[in-house]
Amino acid sequence: MTTRNAAENRVTLQGIGISPGIVIARALPYEQGGIVRKTKLNSVAFVEPEQDRFRKAVARTEEKLRLAREQFSALMADYASIIDTHILILRDKKIFDRTLEIIAEEKINAEWALETTLSQVEEVFAGMEDSYIRSRFLDVRQVADRIFAELSGADTSEEDAGRMVILVARDFSPEEILQMHNPVGFLAEMGGGTSHSAIVARALGIPAVVGLPNVCSLISANDLVILDGALGRVHINPEKSLLDNYRDKQIKYRQHRAEIANPVHLRAETPEGLSLRVQANLEISSEVNQALEYGADGIGLFRSEYLYLTSPDTPDEEFLFTTYKDLLSVASPLPVTIRTFDLGGDKKFVFRQGKSSQFCRKMAQQWSTEANPALGLRAIRYCLHEPQMFETQLRAIFRASVFGTVRILFPMISSCCELIHVKKIIASVREALLVANVPFDENIEIGVMIEVPSAVVVADILAHEVDFFSIGTNDLIQYALAIDRGNEQVSHMYEPLHPAVLRMISQVVGAAHGAGIEVEICGEMAGEEKYLPLLLGLGLDSLSMHPKAIPPVKRMIRQSNAEYTERLAENLLQCPTAAEVREQLQNYLVHYYADIFHVDDKACFK
Ligand code: PEP
Ligand code: MG
Repeated sequence: MTTRNAAENRVTLQGIGISPGIVIARALPYEQGGIVRKTKLNSVAFVEPEQDRFRKAVARTEEKLRLAREQFSALMADYASIIDTHILILRDKKIFDRTLEIIAEEKINAEWALETTLSQVEEVFAGMEDSYIRSRFLDVRQVADRIFAELSGADTSEEDAGRMVILVARDFSPEEILQMHNPVGFLAEMGGGTSHSAIVARALGIPAVVGLPNVCSLISANDLVILDGALGRVHINPEKSLLDNYRDKQIKYRQHRAEIANPVHLRAETPEGLSLRVQANLEISSEVNQALEYGADGIGLFRSEYLYLTSPDTPDEEFLFTTYKDLLSVASPLPVTIRTFDLGGDKKFVFRQGKSSQFCRKMAQQWSTEANPALGLRAIRYCLHEPQMFETQLRAIFRASVFGTVRILFPMISSCCELIHVKKIIASVREALLVANVPFDENIEIGVMIEVPSAVVVADILAHEVDFFSIGTNDLIQYALAIDRGNEQVSHMYEPLHPAVLRMISQVVGAAHGAGIEVEICGEMAGEEKYLPLLLGLGLDSLSMHPKAIPPVKRMIRQSNAEYTERLAENLLQCPTAAEVREQLQNYLVHYYADIFHVDDKACFK
């Protein structure tokens, strides 16, 4: 929906809010692959200021690298040395001095000059005999990307220098979001609420709205934008009264967050003593501290595939082992559930010329031929297709297991055959470690994600083969209702309250409990307060969600009544349509959680 006031260039857009929060900031169109604007300097007088702009961008990059080194090196052992190398590259004469020279010689802007420098350096690297040294050009490219990002932020007036921006693009990949610098929000034409980009945005706490057709042409650089991530609303160049109104809302929202974050370490237990484990979903291991601060009772889902998506090289066993070891050590004694690589579908390596490894190239080519990636070589299918890579990951997990409590979770299991195949590989990995005298935890629990309808149907059989179930509602809804979770055109039909979804969850809980194993939900549904009484009533043992959702969900559990929620779930399971489920649930929320949900707050189900 678009509302426009042509005279004032004022536009209001309604999209899909995928990450809550209110942001008021200037817009910055984001070009995939970095913002590299090429401009000729009109006069020699501009050379010195342009060189200065470049020097300042390099200085800011260095400052941030040093800060990152302080913050993360304790958690990621190899990180410090990578950063040290990057700082050296920053000041290398062939890059720093050469770019300054090119600005002066060719009278072009810093971005263009840096790009020219890069292609010259790339040629030198390409001529190197040693393949390892050749591949180190990747580091130069990463450093340059950081400078480009700083240049784009600094490419404005003095008063805007160092400002935070709302990035606007046709689409963002999860990997791009992870690598962005300082966005306070983002807007995209494409995407849906449970896409992986949405999950990452929420995890990082960046408010975002997607599903905004033509937003790239409607917004210009420097437009003032109000982004309301909860309502999915965007106001471009708003009038003053609306701006004031939103500034008030922003203050209230921050107060609300601070308030609910307070008693985070209390147990998630109803007054009658029904307790649930409220765990965190992590995409990157460094988020673990934040998850614990928010009161996580464990890591219910570590999406290990992000190690591939964010690393320029193919992660080897040592890299994986160190990452898992650090993660387990920090979380210990709380359990960490590592999900094996869920690559494929919409989580593919982004292949970049000169940046990506041979392995990424091979897989990118293979995936590019898939007509239906969501139904293709994804998740466990991909791991069984690339057994060596799978074994490497399993070995790394087993080796790390002595540093904490680890559970292994297998994604997208659709049949018992797959699970049996997986267990055979586990047995051979264990055997090899035993022979080599490598210590590991003998009692690692293994579980499967229930996210394909066929797994629901055979859940009673699968339940006898594993230690726990984790329901991936993001995919389960997608596959059960035949709705692409990342497609904004059908996102209105992506319905967590569809009677089929409710019945599937109930069936899986019954199968798990019948076999005496635990069942949790790690899809996005688990972290939304409005679904909590339903999930509680359906009998889930644990919920896993993005860390920031933990405090409000725990608070709601503490004010829930186990008997009432059970009755609510029984009633909702009888509803013939999602609309009826929604209405009953909404009435329940307003009645029993009046301090959170208000009668006139229809937005809670939009
Ligand atoms: C899910 O499908 O619900 C899930 C948690 O996995 P992902 O979102 O990573 O596919
Ligand atoms: Mg999934």
